[in-house]
Amino acid sequence: MATGTLTIDLDAIAANWQALNSLSGDTVETGAVVKADGYGLGAARAARTLARAGARKFFVAAAEEGAAVREALGRGPDIFIFGGHMAGDTEMIHDLDLVPMLNSIDQLTRHFEALPGAAFGIQLDSGMNRLGLEPAEWAAVSELAVSQSPKLIMSHLASADEPDSPQNADQLRQFREMTDGLDVPRSLSATGGTLLGPDYHFDVTRPGIGLYGGLPFAEAKPVVRLSLPVIQTRLVAPGETVGYNATWSAPEEKLIATVAAGYADGILRAISNKADLYFNGTPCPIVGRVSMDLITVDISALGEVPPALDILCAEQGVDDLANAAGTIGYEILTSLGARYERKTIGGFA
Ligand SMILES: *Cc1c(COP(=O)(O)O)cnc(C)c1O
Repeated sequence: MATGTLTIDLDAIAANWQALNSLSGDTVETGAVVKADGYGLGAARAARTLARAGARKFFVAAAEEGAAVREALGRGPDIFIFGGHMAGDTEMIHDLDLVPMLNSIDQLTRHFEALPGAAFGIQLDSGMNRLGLEPAEWAAVSELAVSQSPKLIMSHLASADEPDSPQNADQLRQFREMTDGLDVPRSLSATGGTLLGPDYHFDVTRPGIGLYGGLPFAEAKPVVRLSLPVIQTRLVAPGETVGYNATWSAPEEKLIATVAAGYADGILRAISNKADLYFNGTPCPIVGRVSMDLITVDISALGEVPPALDILCAEQGVDDLANAAGTIGYEILTSLGARYERKTIGGFA
């Protein structure tokens, strides 16, 4: 069965990196987060595009992801691993020159014993309580760790997408307390923190979602378009129902299109009866439940049967779809299914 076409605008990814880069001063280096296969859009093509745009520091979650990015970029750019130095990753870290962000005393010990002299960074917990050394742990090991010349010391903000949250200033203060006076490059901010202003920039920023067109970077250029083919259409009479469990019934005669994508492709079931598909700017509501491979759409407003309908487009971006599903743009992007044909426009990758 034909599935949809996901079009990825590489020029938009590059432009979003440049726009975020221009928000911080010349002494600040803008990195690029390409974890989770480049937020679902392809880590290799995203990384190559971002390297062309000027990024020299890349961030991924796990060593395997780092290997894919190293393969795409070759030697030269720094590739940092947020998850740090996990048991079993030593060879990969060494052979591919990856930089683990060491998160715990265990990881520090593992790294210094397995790869003495090899590059590393340090992740500190400034209040999110997810990854990184706690203040007391850091106090105990900072002198030793700094003597080994870490490439970067970082922490992560929990509420940077809420500029008014007092947690931002609390974490900033904690991070400064843990790192002021150390002669090591520092990084605190992802996309949200980058938008909070210069106090949050330090030496390196780490935007991810903004590169891919998502909030909180409201000025981002949209990066994805997702077009889904129509398989068949039918007229339903007033009172007839559509889809599993008959959650929608036709108030009058309606023309229903059955479209080839479903929750197995990342069209979240939560948008059943909520979001729209678009044809040339005209919204067509999803009616009935999203099934595994199919969705049903009321195209009565169109006056023609289109070959395909768009679910991500200028009229409905990733955050609009996320709102309809009660989630965030990050989850929409990273859920995009493997069955789509992926096409790129622009770029060099
Ligand atoms: C995912 C992640 C980022 C990027 O976050 P965005 O909100 O996508 O910009 C930066 N730093 C860490 C530690 C992350 O986990």
